[in-house]
Amino acid sequence: MVFNSCGNQNEVKFKVTRSFDCDVLVIGGGPAGIGSAVCAARHGAKTILAEREGYLGGMATNGLVAPFMSSTTPDGQTLLIRGMYEELVNRMVEQGGAIHPLKAEIGSFSAYRDKGHHGLTTFDFECLKRTTEQMCKEAGVELLYHLLFVKADTKDNKITAAYFATKDGIWKITAKNYIDCTGDGDLAAQAGAPFIYGDGEGGVQATSLFIVLRNIDWKAMDAHDAACRKAGDFEGQFYMREILAAREKGEFPMWRQKIALFQNMDGTATVNMTQTDEVDGLDPKQVTEAEITGREQADYVVKFLRKYVKGCENCELAQSAENLGVRETRRIIGEYTVTTEDAKNSVKYPDPVFCCANHMDIHRKGYVEYVARNTNDPYYFPYRALLPQKVDNLLCAGRCAAAERPVMAAVRVIPPCFAMGQAAGTAAALSVAAGVGPKQLDPSVLVSTLKEDGVYLPE
Ligand SMILES: Cc1cc2nc3c(=O)[nH]c(=O)nc-3n(C[C@H](O)[C@H](O)[C@H](O)COP(=O)(O)OP(=O)(O)OC[C@H]3O[C@@H](n4cnc5c(N)ncnc54)[C@H](O)[C@@H]3O)c2cc1C
Repeated sequence: MVFNSCGNQNEVKFKVTRSFDCDVLVIGGGPAGIGSAVCAARHGAKTILAEREGYLGGMATNGLVAPFMSSTTPDGQTLLIRGMYEELVNRMVEQGGAIHPLKAEIGSFSAYRDKGHHGLTTFDFECLKRTTEQMCKEAGVELLYHLLFVKADTKDNKITAAYFATKDGIWKITAKNYIDCTGDGDLAAQAGAPFIYGDGEGGVQATSLFIVLRNIDWKAMDAHDAACRKAGDFEGQFYMREILAAREKGEFPMWRQKIALFQNMDGTATVNMTQTDEVDGLDPKQVTEAEITGREQADYVVKFLRKYVKGCENCELAQSAENLGVRETRRIIGEYTVTTEDAKNSVKYPDPVFCCANHMDIHRKGYVEYVARNTNDPYYFPYRALLPQKVDNLLCAGRCAAAERPVMAAVRVIPPCFAMGQAAGTAAALSVAAGVGPKQLDPSVLVSTLKEDGVYLPE
């Protein structure tokens, strides 16, 4: 089912208290928004990044989502997501705030990995916030925090203004090109671009509230992990038998089948084990309930880990995420929509903007469905999948770009979202400089510019 409007469209009259104008307006400061804003500004566009929180990072900070998922070939040997992402990682590594994905080994920092999880990037949340702000400032991006996008004006298939709810009333920003990096496609939906929600029939992937734990004995965790790997005991490695037993006793009232702990730079662990199903991430009431449930589940997770998991006997809850982890809401219908068959077979496009090899995994109630690929070769993402139909001065990067559900389940992870942002921001700026709309931009110019900027696009 394809939609082209959002929510209840009752008109509300309001007075604008402040106005801004720029070449490129990026809405949303997550991985896609950071990549978009930095690269648009680096290519000469007067760029504003508007974000509802008081810092950057999106899910990677406000959702405590860590580590960055794979950015390499399946064997972990070749870095596929390079360009602005690699630059960010290198800058964090220099500060002791990240481990380079080519140096992450199974059994070390990013332990407890499942199949296909090579080339992860362990990072520090505060280092990510600080470094991405530095990169925005150096590029000349104007950062405007505490702005919640609520409404767009459109005329002749173009966005003419975006409106934001603030403590100061309604702020208005106008731009030549707009980039929707809200994850949920908020701007695209308000501007009337067609989109698909979840599976097209109302179903969406499960949501999870991340937590951070302290006081973990990683040596004991590693010893157990190594022993199970040696014995080929997959169920033991992930404490699957203990979870089943605990569930029967009422000690684990969640659908998760495995433990999922990742070691952070400071020795804490991010834990991705709570789960709520059938939550509409666009409905604040449902999100509120899921966040409350997530925190109730977090208490069960801590008690379970203390009782059953070696090395977690003394673990304590340090923090729960500020925002629920929403895996899936809207995806635009693009000028091209990447198909599952494309990704399975590494189909080549005339306008590739990045490549990756992430596995396609859909989080369903109680299990993760993996969609097999026919080759281990990287697959590509075309520029046209960042361009929504029916709106001419809009690009959409990150979780709301145009890809069939299984493909978006793969490219929605953080490194490809940075790469989508780099492509969208670069294209938005090149289009302003050339005096043409993003849809008229010569893709060969974009591709060669991305390559000059370090993006890896093997022939
Ligand atoms: C439960 C869960 C587990 C995950 N695990 C991993 C993992 O281990 N590793 C990994 O790499 N990826 C993981 N991901 C995927 C990844 O975190 C996200 O898909 C990715 O962050 C999407 O990037 P984005 O920039 O598109 O959106 P987001 O990261 O969601 O950023 C969107 C930004 O836009 C802002 N925003 C939204 N709406 C508005 C608005 N109306 N006005 C103003 N600002 C707005 C938000 O505050 C946010 O800063 C996980 C995701 C979830 C939900």
